Amino acid sequence: MGRSTPSYTVSDFPAVDPRGRDHDDAQAPPRPRVPAEPGPNDPTRHDVVLDEARIDPDVQKVVKRLTRAGFEAYLVGGCVRDLLLERRPKDFDVATSARPEEVRALFRNSRIIGRRFRLVHVLFHGGKVIEVATFRRNPKDEADEGAELLIRSDNVFGDAHEDAVRRDFTMNALFYDLEAQQILDWCGGMEDVRRRVVHTIGEPEVRFREDPIRILRALKFAGRLGFAITPDVYDAIVYCREALALAARPRVSEEILRLMRGGQARRTIYLAWETGVLDVLLPELSSLLYDDGAGEGAGRRLWRLLDTIDRRTNEDGPLDDTVLWALLLLEPIREACEGAPDRGEAVADFLEPLVERIALSRRYADGIRRIVAVLPRLYAGRPGRFAKTELFDLAVEVALADLAARGEPTEALERLRPPPQARRRRGDDGRPAH
Ligand code: ATP
Ligand code: MG
Repeated sequence: MGRSTPSYTVSDFPAVDPRGRDHDDAQAPPRPRVPAEPGPNDPTRHDVVLDEARIDPDVQKVVKRLTRAGFEAYLVGGCVRDLLLERRPKDFDVATSARPEEVRALFRNSRIIGRRFRLVHVLFHGGKVIEVATFRRNPKDEADEGAELLIRSDNVFGDAHEDAVRRDFTMNALFYDLEAQQILDWCGGMEDVRRRVVHTIGEPEVRFREDPIRILRALKFAGRLGFAITPDVYDAIVYCREALALAARPRVSEEILRLMRGGQARRTIYLAWETGVLDVLLPELSSLLYDDGAGEGAGRRLWRLLDTIDRRTNEDGPLDDTVLWALLLLEPIREACEGAPDRGEAVADFLEPLVERIALSRRYADGIRRIVAVLPRLYAGRPGRFAKTELFDLAVEVALADLAARGEPTEALERLRPPPQARRRRGDDGRPAH
């Protein structure tokens, strides 16, 4: 990691027409690439050489073309954090001073997407997409945003500083200037990455109330990266957790999946339980964990199921979403079925409130129901016609994890498992966030 140089380096890029070659709006005033004078919102610049071999060459091309056209352009968000931590980034996000139309004009193979937040997707061979976002600011930061909001809907453009401070955690607000090989830091993110702590930008309680999904994101990063949560952020999570009930429900269910996809599901779900977040989202799980005494019970098995998820994820990449849901809910479902005259009905009754509370999709609920129903037949080695359905491979995965969690032999079922290549279904999200 680099040394800190809080001097206000002003890069001396040649003055290039910032509108780009194909730009058709001759009236647009040129915007300076960097402020001429050091100002109060200038970042601390850290000289850091990130491993270029880990930075997608197409992303480097995109950034270079933008800067050559006179715009500011940086690598931002999770990729900078991951490169600093010597992890391979999942994807690369670029933020720029160029407006969507200006980015579009610079790249023939690009398209503007999104209605709320207009982003540009630059397309490369093999279906690769690089997302370029114009700097935005938090619309709540100033009261006089009416005009811009009216014209641009939710696209409230801003400068690099505003774009950094609107982000959630300090470690996610670092901008990397590829050409200068410097990290721009407005929020103390470098220090927090070095200390390995999750800290919100600004008051944790304010930021969590603004967007309760950030509570789940804090748990996700702490779990996945093995970071500590600072005491004030931890207290705010505990204090604000009920606000999650107000969050957009599809975002909640997607974020729960992300908690489990990072290869540290056990640690992450433990944090969710410890902070009481699980009480709000999945009380049927947390009660089972509270009830579980020292002995061998459902709670123990749940932790072991999560261990299995982590082992599989670290071997083969993220598991299928239906498998993740089925494994997370398997133990409470089993409890709900105990003594029920109709198991299928009991499972459906168990899942229905989750469809309501966290927008568990009907597709997943139906998959879980069918997988749970077939488990006894799988253990008996008689899958029958189910072996021909699209759910079979997923059911085998669930059954294997369940046997492992209960300390039973898995060899017989192991033979039904599809080869690793076929198992690799999807990477993590990769979709435009926030
Ligand atoms: P991952 O490795 O899981 O993709 P990430 O940090 O890249 O982690 P994304 O969800 O891809 O997370 O979001 C990209 C960036 O957008 C984040 O790094 C953060 O700066 C910002 N961001 C995402 N979600 C929020 C949010 N709810 N509030 C504020 N900023 C956010
Ligand atoms: Mg990302």
